[in-house]
Amino acid sequence: MSEVKTAKQWAEELTLGRKNGLLKISAEEMEKANAFCEDYKAYLDAAKTEREAAEEAIRLAKAAGFSEFQLGKKYNAGDRVYVNNRGKSVAFAVIGKQPVEKGLRITAAHIDSPRLDLKPNPLYEEIELALFKTHYYGGIKKYQWTAVPLALHGVIVKANGEVVKVCIGEKDDEPKFVVNDLLPHLAQEQSKRTLSDGIRGEELNVLVGSCPFKDDEGSELVKLNILKILFEKYGVKEEDFLSAELECVPAQKACDIGFDRSLIGAYGQDDRVCAYPALKAIIDIGTPELTAVAVLADKEEVGSDGNTGMNSDFIRDFAEDLAVMQGGRGSVALRNSKCLSADVNAATDPTFQDVMERRNASFVNYGVVVTKYTGARGKSGTSDASAEYVAFVRKMLDDSGIIWQTGELGKVDAGGGGTVAMYIANLGVDTVDLGVPVLSMHAPFETTAKLDVYMCYRAMYEFCK
Ligand code: MN
Ligand code: MN
Repeated sequence: MSEVKTAKQWAEELTLGRKNGLLKISAEEMEKANAFCEDYKAYLDAAKTEREAAEEAIRLAKAAGFSEFQLGKKYNAGDRVYVNNRGKSVAFAVIGKQPVEKGLRITAAHIDSPRLDLKPNPLYEEIELALFKTHYYGGIKKYQWTAVPLALHGVIVKANGEVVKVCIGEKDDEPKFVVNDLLPHLAQEQSKRTLSDGIRGEELNVLVGSCPFKDDEGSELVKLNILKILFEKYGVKEEDFLSAELECVPAQKACDIGFDRSLIGAYGQDDRVCAYPALKAIIDIGTPELTAVAVLADKEEVGSDGNTGMNSDFIRDFAEDLAVMQGGRGSVALRNSKCLSADVNAATDPTFQDVMERRNASFVNYGVVVTKYTGARGKSGTSDASAEYVAFVRKMLDDSGIIWQTGELGKVDAGGGGTVAMYIANLGVDTVDLGVPVLSMHAPFETTAKLDVYMCYRAMYEFCK
């Protein structure tokens, strides 16, 4: 006689149970997650731009035995190399026991984040105040960038090629900068604008000074005084702004959020919340079976184009270089490769639940999110991962006890977005998105959960090792 199961038993066996990860994770593992996130917060503070994120990643990797890849040099299993693409994107690799042609295990994340870039001719004076004109980078809600302290990061390259690094506004005793907003008392007309138009692109002007030369004659003395300060500090003239990349980012440091300290608040977590786990995973693995590659890319927030974006030949060429080293072909290696495109997904916000379809939305503390497809409307602009590949990833996560969930980017037709997944999939690589759910994505201050960040790291590690 067969055993008769109760409805509860059948439900346990057949239905997809979703449960808060904090109710599943052991105390020991949560301790590891908390420790991991302390290092993650330090990375966030050290890496607020794509250049800094690349530099800091290389610094950490070098300390763990990675060296710059040399074309023509023979590398053996376990060797650790990296390629620095113009200081803005980096690929790390650990050579596997199997030939490169057997396929790579690629993790890919982006290290650029939405911000305010300075225009090529930024500095001007108006009613005896000096300001910078900006051109925003990536998808921002412009009103969020007013009345918050900003820091200035980037480089100024002089005509003779000398690179002047700029980072001001991060230390406690350094000055900061700000985009001012209209007081509510006089905002009657502004308040009638739509939210997206509340602050306009040309209104994102950054206040940088107010002090004129006292004893001089001439117009625009406040601006001149700023130029004098910049000349004394950096040796640059107004003309040098023409060949500069200067970025205004929030001056706020990463911190814990909540009485229970379960969350992290910081600027630029999209996508350093995946970039750091990808980096840490490739640093932590030993000699993998298949060659592991971690790519940290630039330009994702503006469409991944350009020679430092994922839509360039950077990864194709690196795969080729690795394969050729062993007398193989890069195209064969890529065809056999698998990729976790590590990017964030939108976590369901209790205040804005109506943009989510609850059964397919992601939640903070429910673990790392697997996103089969992104895109907009009828799955436009995405590389929908195959069922076969999702099954492979699903098994890997379950077999290693990683807490994970699936997520769609909001309701159908509510909007949409994309990641680097399709650019890697276009190379012939099996690719799926996997990353951390984020609240307030693209805001100057984004929120994630520590458990999810750590599960992202564990997923990367299992995938590469
Ligand atoms: Mn992203
Ligand atoms: Mn983004």
